[in-house]
Amino acid sequence: MIKSKKDKKGYFGDFGGQFVPETLMTPLKELEDSYIKLWRDKRFKAELDEMLSGFAGRPTPIYFAGNLTDQLNGAKIYLKREDLTHTGAHKINNAAGQALLAKYMGKKRIIAETGAGQHGVATSAVSAALGLECVVYMGAVDMERQQPNVKRMQLLGAKVIPVNSGSKTLKDAINEAIRDWVTNIRTSHYLIGSVLGPHPYPIIVRNFQRVIGTEAKKQILQKEKRLPDYLVASIGGGSNSIGLFYDFLNDNKVRMIGVEAGGRGIKSGKHAARFTGGRPGILHGTLSYVLQDKFGQITETHSVAAGLDYPSVGPEHAYLHSIGRVQYTSVTDKEAIEAFRLLSEMEGIIPAFESAHAIAYGLKLAGKLPKNKIIIINLSGRGDKDLLTNIGK
Ligand SMILES: *Cc1c(COP(=O)(O)O)cnc(C)c1O
Repeated sequence: MIKSKKDKKGYFGDFGGQFVPETLMTPLKELEDSYIKLWRDKRFKAELDEMLSGFAGRPTPIYFAGNLTDQLNGAKIYLKREDLTHTGAHKINNAAGQALLAKYMGKKRIIAETGAGQHGVATSAVSAALGLECVVYMGAVDMERQQPNVKRMQLLGAKVIPVNSGSKTLKDAINEAIRDWVTNIRTSHYLIGSVLGPHPYPIIVRNFQRVIGTEAKKQILQKEKRLPDYLVASIGGGSNSIGLFYDFLNDNKVRMIGVEAGGRGIKSGKHAARFTGGRPGILHGTLSYVLQDKFGQITETHSVAAGLDYPSVGPEHAYLHSIGRVQYTSVTDKEAIEAFRLLSEMEGIIPAFESAHAIAYGLKLAGKLPKNKIIIINLSGRGDKDLLTNIGK
């Protein structure tokens, strides 16, 4: 794609790479080789297609948000309905792909880690469907906050292991998952949930999420007979956004905006806006933008949306940021919650808090644009999981 030929393998421009202990180099190579082989394998492709359609519920539609479009009197707003997938978010696309990859590689055990629980639930579901053993590491604090998802994972047959180190949240759960993988490499596949981690993960996850943009492109051409002017998506690790953006990257007129978590505001320091508050650094095996203090210590992040609450971001986004192909911005907790309410009331769709960040920015943008413009917002997931969060009246 728009990557230059000069790029070193496993790098996106200056970002990415494999910053891992020696013991992980062989399994990463094994994963890369298997992936390259299976990606072209007809039987693998057919089985994945069947899972995506029959199990995950693809293709998901794009939906014209007519009420909001009318009210804002600006650009036409379309929603890509990843909220309609099985288990309620785009995470299932990648979980299905990687679990199938693991099965074809002869690995019978899946290791995952989860923050909000969405990735853990998707991974538990596909593991059950494919007859694979599944263990999910989860920070003790997150387990407390996300009880319904813990129950779902357990019901789906996964073993949920509480992590009590550090801040007892996602970053600590990832450390534990990596430890498990190093110990059980022969039998286990580490199923990373976003476009993060060492090469080849960011490429594998992106390619399993590309289906979002491939479908959206076909669908908008059918409905509008032309490409959209803007794509908007929320950015946690960056998988739902790159999934939507990727097939449009060479369409120069299509502008793309990634929306990070502004939390309580950038000035407060309580946010997860890596491109505003962070700088290049290494976390969990990859070189990308990282929120860190002046000594390089990872700083605490905050977002009302657990899925956006991570101190780093996928290396391909760092590259797209460096060449200016994608614009990155943020919206606050408060703005996201307003959008969460507005979409529910006006369109009858309850979005995930994560997706509500993209909605908030997309609505602001639509209101400023003329009526002949078209925006597609990625509705990455549904909001049922967020109903227990106290957001006031
Ligand atoms: C996990 C999650 C996100 C953020 O992760 P990405 O990898 O950036 O997509 C966004 N929306 C929903 C609904 C999620 O579950």
